[in-house]
Amino acid sequence: MAQRMSDQLTVISAACAGTLLTYQVWQSDAALFATATVALLAATNVAWTVDALRRNRTKDVVTCPTPGCGVSVAMTGATPGERARMTAYGVDHSRHGGAA
Ligand SMILES: [Zn+2]
Repeated sequence: MAQRMSDQLTVISAACAGTLLTYQVWQSDAALFATATVALLAATNVAWTVDALRRNRTKDVVTCPTPGCGVSVAMTGATPGERARMTAYGVDHSRHGGAA
């Protein structure tokens, strides 16, 4: 719940900053092309922010079950094949650990 609220505030902040910047450029008598460019960059920034937050929410973490081993593998945007390979690596202590 707190994560979702934080994500929403992040998107709202990005949108407000982009809108304010675009407004300031527009009010400074900049060329229409410059204002439109800033508006597009601001919209792109909001889209990037939404995508980054979505990727962060879909992160998978696999932790080694061996006691005392602190290895964990975090995956974001992995294909099914990559996910299977990294999961096998993370849960098989002999593949990443020492003698513990
Ligand atoms: Zn391990």
